[in-house]
Amino acid sequence: MKNTLKFRFRNIGSMLALCAVFSITVMLFFGACSNNRAQQTTAIINAKVFDGENLINDTTVLIKDGYIQAVGGAVPTDAIIIDAGGATLIPGLIDAHVHTNIDGLRDALKFGVTTELAMNGSWPERKRKKVAKRNDIADVRASGMGVVPPGGHPTQYMANSSNLLLRYFYSYPFVSTPNEAEKFIAKQVATGADYIKIFIEDGTIVGHPNLPTPSNETIHAAVLSAHKHNKMALFHATTAAGSKQAIEAGADGLMHLFVDVPHTLELIEAIAKSGAFVVPTLALTSSAFGKNGAALSSDERVRSRLNAKWLDHLSGSINTYPQGNLDYIFASVIALHQAGIDILAGSDVSEPIPGLGGLAHGATLHHELQMLVAAGLEPVEALRAATSIPARRFGLTDRGRIAPGLIADLILIDGNPLVNISDTLSIRSVWHRGELLNNNKK
Ligand SMILES: [Zn+2]
Repeated sequence: MKNTLKFRFRNIGSMLALCAVFSITVMLFFGACSNNRAQQTTAIINAKVFDGENLINDTTVLIKDGYIQAVGGAVPTDAIIIDAGGATLIPGLIDAHVHTNIDGLRDALKFGVTTELAMNGSWPERKRKKVAKRNDIADVRASGMGVVPPGGHPTQYMANSSNLLLRYFYSYPFVSTPNEAEKFIAKQVATGADYIKIFIEDGTIVGHPNLPTPSNETIHAAVLSAHKHNKMALFHATTAAGSKQAIEAGADGLMHLFVDVPHTLELIEAIAKSGAFVVPTLALTSSAFGKNGAALSSDERVRSRLNAKWLDHLSGSINTYPQGNLDYIFASVIALHQAGIDILAGSDVSEPIPGLGGLAHGATLHHELQMLVAAGLEPVEALRAATSIPARRFGLTDRGRIAPGLIADLILIDGNPLVNISDTLSIRSVWHRGELLNNNKK
């Protein structure tokens, strides 16, 4: 009995030892494999390469360990080869104006939008860490909550939000005085805001007339405070008067184009002199003027990537300012562009709730590029507005271009968007942080 037990123990002991050896072997084997995989270079060859600024002569891009290793040059003999066959490789797109969540980031990435810049909404460190670990959703930067006076825009939408916590229990941290603005902004910065958002919206354009706007003193204090914390002061303003007020207060960026009146030389010059950039949000404006996104939602390249709820939402419109004139808007965009003002592409997509239709994460940024070209920008200028220019203006020095050492956020596109901008929707592959997106369909 004693012997049998000893034998059993010895057997169990050797089994455990064997198991340990086996486990270590397995770990070493798979470790070596995954190590190899991590270190193996991917070479995209025979591509037309738009590097974020221009179409370049090189046709090869090497990716390794999540970064762009080289542009042009020799292909390592052990590289995984992806033959683009003349397709166009562009940097992952940056949407410079969204309101987003994890689902929004997931949809965005399916359309090659690898970074979304959130313009009102809390993205605390805990949530950011989750995003940073996932290659199946777009990356995000955020303003935290924006400076809004009691009852001001955009809090009128909270009653319709699909987020029930927001709808029934959330009390917006309104700002009434310059002193409150300073404290509020310090708090946003402490909770991780990358830039500060300030709202000047009297409700004319959004179908809620007579909404309160912050006092001029509060606006000035908010800009000063943002700058004191080394953050950009970014403004929501949809009228010429609101835009003028923002520029005079020291705005670093206008997150919409004024849409109530044709531009004046005086206003264009004031914006140019200030150095602020403008995100025209033309797709949003078109929706506010009552033009729906049905053409986009019936496009198979969009249908294959969005669920029924978002497709339905996309086919609607906001229609709060049908008297608006898109010709004026296009003329303003060109005047801004000719004055040397940086134009950034942004969709302002948020939730699929009534009153905000005609927009969808990812898809609408492609619509925005089409509309920038319809306004009169060259396709290459529209592409810069969603790549190198937002990267430069937001200090995202690790993305927005195809160059050695930058994050390998890339889209391979069938066709040539430098000739036909709507080709950006013909997405063959998306890489996010060097990883090929498995499933870029719904
Ligand atoms: Zn917005």
